[in-house]
Amino acid sequence: MQYPVLEINLKKLKYNAKMEFDYLHKYGIDVMGVNKVFNGTPETALAIVESGYTVVAEAVTANLKKIKDIPCEKALLRSPGLSEIPDVITYADISLVAEAETIKALSKEAVKQNRLHKALLMIDMGDIREGIWYENREEIETALELILDLPGLEVYGLGTNFGCYGTILPTPENTMAFIELARQLEKKFDIKFKYLSGGNCTSYHLVAQGIMPKEINQLRIGAQHLFGIEYVEEKYLEGYCHSSKDVKNYASDSYILKCEIIELRDKPTVPVGELGLDSFMKTKTFNDRGIRRQAVIALGFQDVSFENIHPADDRIQVDGQTSNHTIIDLGDTGNDYRLGDIIDFEIDYTALMTICNSANISKIFID
Ligand SMILES: *Cc1c(COP(=O)(O)O)cnc(C)c1O
Repeated sequence: MQYPVLEINLKKLKYNAKMEFDYLHKYGIDVMGVNKVFNGTPETALAIVESGYTVVAEAVTANLKKIKDIPCEKALLRSPGLSEIPDVITYADISLVAEAETIKALSKEAVKQNRLHKALLMIDMGDIREGIWYENREEIETALELILDLPGLEVYGLGTNFGCYGTILPTPENTMAFIELARQLEKKFDIKFKYLSGGNCTSYHLVAQGIMPKEINQLRIGAQHLFGIEYVEEKYLEGYCHSSKDVKNYASDSYILKCEIIELRDKPTVPVGELGLDSFMKTKTFNDRGIRRQAVIALGFQDVSFENIHPADDRIQVDGQTSNHTIIDLGDTGNDYRLGDIIDFEIDYTALMTICNSANISKIFID
């Protein structure tokens, strides 16, 4: 086998995903399974479908193509670009929409391909990323009317998102404001939204505390079943995660990055000579820890930042990185490691995302 390799434990992914799915179902909440961090990996999409999910979402249209044979509905988790409408209609059953012009283009193409496309109309409740601003009632009504009237389109629901860009926390107040808007639209257009899609994994804590308004019947979740975590206070997670380790930002052993030692010897911890700039045009300072056992591993900033990975062997420390080398201090490991040995790293969400986008890192699956 050639390294680096990302080892994905599908069993753990399924375990987390099923637990999340069943838990939210108890509260009347359907889940859209978000596979975007895996960059269209069919094996992980299939794993969450086998855990009960009926919709898998991707953030990139080309990735919908990669999962086209997985038996589920597929969603594009953002507004389609006007340049990619034909592929969106072919490969997505659902997309998030917020622009009248895009809605018209989707309708035209859906008719052409003889497909029915479902539109989740996105409202921005304050996070200032996707969606029509919640106060722009006229724009919201125009968009909704287009989806209702134009051929080839169906209203999937009304959606909003929190936390991703503006770091706005979902609260009962802003969630209720979203629901109130939905109710007014339903009344005005004499419709009933199938889904009020309330947010991502940051909304989970409202459910866990029992303060999620009952009208919210869908969440779109990735990070939580991926890692068994969400990025909120740990106290909300008690009784949910299957081990205390999963509460932290590292995914225990669900995802292991395996890298090969390509050089190994004792070296000083401070460079010798006059300091200039590193490969990223930055100045650096070095802590003198004397002569240490240093390994160079075949992994670089091109694949993942060393700040988002953590050696599974606690005796090892990551010192730094360039485009295609990572320098590690083997510390007190004595003669435990040799040239060609493999170093395991635990990784966080950011690392998982960049690793899955790196063509240099192959994936292996444990099932
Ligand atoms: C990424 C994303 C999600 C899922 O977020 P997680 O933090 O992975 O749960 C949900 N909705 C939208 C619009 C997203 O972009």
